[in-house]
Amino acid sequence: MESIDDAAAGNWGGGGRLTVDLGALARNWRTLADRAGGAETAAAVKGDAYGIGLAEAVPALAKAGCRTYFVALPQEGIQLRTLAPAATIYVLNGLIPGTATLLAESALQPVLGSLAEIDEWAAYKAAGGDGRAALHVDTGMNRLGVTLDEAAGLADRAEALGLSLVMSHLACADQPDHPLNAAQLAAFGTAARFFPALPASLANSAGLHLSPDYHFDLVRPGIALYGGRFGDAFAALEPVVCAEARIVQVRQVGVGQSVGYGATQHVTRPSRIAILSAGYADGYHRQASSSDGAAGASAFLHGRRAPLVGRISMDLLAIDVTDIPEAQRGDHAELFGPNIPVDEVAAHAGTIGYELLTSLGKRYRRHYLGGA
Ligand SMILES: *Cc1c(COP(=O)(O)O)cnc(C)c1O
Repeated sequence: MESIDDAAAGNWGGGGRLTVDLGALARNWRTLADRAGGAETAAAVKGDAYGIGLAEAVPALAKAGCRTYFVALPQEGIQLRTLAPAATIYVLNGLIPGTATLLAESALQPVLGSLAEIDEWAAYKAAGGDGRAALHVDTGMNRLGVTLDEAAGLADRAEALGLSLVMSHLACADQPDHPLNAAQLAAFGTAARFFPALPASLANSAGLHLSPDYHFDLVRPGIALYGGRFGDAFAALEPVVCAEARIVQVRQVGVGQSVGYGATQHVTRPSRIAILSAGYADGYHRQASSSDGAAGASAFLHGRRAPLVGRISMDLLAIDVTDIPEAQRGDHAELFGPNIPVDEVAAHAGTIGYELLTSLGKRYRRHYLGGA
């Protein structure tokens, strides 16, 4: 990682530092596009591009060759349109009541996911609206999407509704052996055959790695672009985000003394404890804390791991640097990034990398490498 002297630049706020490698993001998109073979590779960029920053991520993805994007909300689509004037943009949360005209103004395509949405969209089309839309068919997740029977009933209305894509979403793609994958694949094959003229899309990041049968015409990876991984299948993907915090002070703690709120962890040897300037207000989940009974997450500095000690506070956390004598006040320690996978910290917090990335908070000073 490039070293920057924020303090000298006068813009160091004292909180964490977030380095986002846009070159790695672009390479990850190309790696996934290779894996997708003949299918088009889109990008899921909802949630501010999974927390890394939509305004920075999209130009890098566009330069890599991405032409189709998925957001969750109309407002995300409106921001994205200013960044990618010619892109195809789908709004996954569908047609929020009364938004058809707003969507059309920015050429955003709702992913229609219920007969109520279809009815409202049909009225908009009958009144001369020229917007286009995708159709979401539920194949077993029971979140969004019309049923297979409902989809069959829409087969001859694709043109009148201005449909450009038929899609579904996998519930268990991150568990390759889960029987729901094959069941959803079969159901989606049926749905796609109702609309022979439309491109079809089923796979997210994990689905893209199941087998080429899941690729259809368009794949929609999100987390894999941003360096979240699902084991060996993702070995070629690079970390994109590195979150760091600075050491505020290093203190000596004697045997038997506790560290932090609740006195949940006692040191068992004379210890050097470094206090870092980041905490759960920065999205570093408190559930990743350490205690006498259960080790928590680790940080990384001077080429070594330093385990957390005690509870994570709002703005501070403690790590054991007894075995890292060179650790000192002012040093940066990696919270997650190239050396500590985001999924590892997430696992300690009982959650997934997606949630860690999308809850990073506003206090990090963001630094982008390799912009488009
Ligand atoms: C978020 C999302 C994706 C991307 O999922 P990842 O697991 O991040 O690859 C694809 N499709 C839909 C419908 C989604 O909601």
